Amino acid sequence: MNELKFHLIGQFKLSSDAAKAKDDVAKLMVKANEDILRKGAPPGGGAEVVNWNLDENIITVEIKSDRYVRAHDALLRLRRSLAALLGEHHIGIRGVVIEEFTIQLPSEEALKKKIPFVKDMRYEEGKILLTLDVDEQQIENRVPDRIINLIMEKIESRKYGKKEHWELLWQSKKKIHKFREDPTKELMKRNWIKHGAGRGQWIFGPQITRVFRAFGGIIEDEILRPLGYHEMMFPKMVPWEVWKRSGHAKAIYPEMYYVCPPKTRDPEYWEEVMDYYKVTQEVPLDLIKEKIDRPIGGMCYAQCPPFWVFLQGETLPDDIFPIFIYDRSGTSHRYESGGIHGIERVDEFNRIELVWIGKPDQVVEHSERLQERYQHVFDELLDMQWRKAWVTPWFMAQEGLTGLAEIKEVGTIDYEAYMPYKNDWLEFQNLSVNGNKYPDGFNVKLQSGEELWSGCSGIGLERWGAAFFAQKGLDVENWPDKFRKRVGELPEIFKFL
Ligand code: ATP
Ligand code: ZN
Ligand code: MG
Repeated sequence: MNELKFHLIGQFKLSSDAAKAKDDVAKLMVKANEDILRKGAPPGGGAEVVNWNLDENIITVEIKSDRYVRAHDALLRLRRSLAALLGEHHIGIRGVVIEEFTIQLPSEEALKKKIPFVKDMRYEEGKILLTLDVDEQQIENRVPDRIINLIMEKIESRKYGKKEHWELLWQSKKKIHKFREDPTKELMKRNWIKHGAGRGQWIFGPQITRVFRAFGGIIEDEILRPLGYHEMMFPKMVPWEVWKRSGHAKAIYPEMYYVCPPKTRDPEYWEEVMDYYKVTQEVPLDLIKEKIDRPIGGMCYAQCPPFWVFLQGETLPDDIFPIFIYDRSGTSHRYESGGIHGIERVDEFNRIELVWIGKPDQVVEHSERLQERYQHVFDELLDMQWRKAWVTPWFMAQEGLTGLAEIKEVGTIDYEAYMPYKNDWLEFQNLSVNGNKYPDGFNVKLQSGEELWSGCSGIGLERWGAAFFAQKGLDVENWPDKFRKRVGELPEIFKFL
């Protein structure tokens, strides 16, 4: 059978010749195979020293193992026992060298990828054979285990495909839409918006800004105030430290905007750049590239992660929960590449992010109340054709979180609006119950020791606008009465010749 198997040859470098300890070492190796390297494994399982040798100040061991006591863990166990034993002979272990380390991993197919610390990867019937290039430090940091997880994840994700699981939860009645144009084209025609100078960026004129503010007013009056939300202001430059804790550091790279500080703020250091610009009227990008430091993080991508630093490492009294907060203090940025489309998919967008925190039942209950409020807004105030879908990203399915996702406690609901002009749907906001992901990642605890959960919901203003205009058009007369009253008179300020 093709099972997970490990083979490792390692050397313990000693502080002096250990010939006098040879008999003791031999006894230890016997004990290791009977006991030390079997602990925690089912009968017959574990690791085994199949060969060993003591040559002056070097002990070489060859270890074979199964999944239960992995060879690299066995090596660390051996080091501990050896250190104690050699200590009695006044000999120390100076270091451990991994001479050879191969892993056999069951797989129905080959994997053609470059994996860190893997110097060779081959496929033989039903198994992947890996040769690792790792040192003692990396073994202590559990790098080999993560390499195995990573490879299994890659194989799994190919099976699932990268697609999200999508399941319809609810949909509104069909509506008759008089307007069937692409709302962005109409917005441009009327000069309500113009392209910004940056990619995927718009300048929103007075009329549409008034509409966005009316959305904001609805959200405030119908959702934030009745549900007891308090406003905060979250940072918008997000350092790696935050994304390591939120999990984004695993995958954000192709979509994030990177932030690099100057190597120094000494004007003399930059004089070359300034002078080049002055004489050529061109910004010397290559020269700048040399003078800026490596990225310290990126621009806001998802809004809530940097908030969690506020609670990081804290133990909090139970009675302050549930807590409801929101942020609308700045833009979010994503490199959408070729996906950019109108105001629907942009590189710079405005979003209101709601975050709620509490015990699991409080968080789940609030998600339901929030859904009711949203429903009221989309049905009664905006008169939209919309639907809700339960989406589970494939990585969640893999992380073994499907149990909670299946009972629909932890996971994400996408809100989608019908877009008549393309007979398709657009996600215009979402709502997630994130379980203990953030409290766990940022090490936030309840005084009682009970579990702490959180949820968040991102309301994209451009997406609300795209959805609303796509269904209702830009003529105020065709908008629902309640909303029209809220917007009031649209300011007509600019005229273009
Ligand atoms: P999509 O599948 O459309 O790319 P997403 O799943 O990447 O959306 P989330 O990460 O769930 O989006 O972000 C939450 C909300 O942020 C979205 O529902 C939307 O309102 C808004 N949003 C995300 N990306 C963009 C974008 N490029 N332009 C405008 N709004 C966006
Ligand atoms: Zn969030
Ligand atoms: Mg996206």
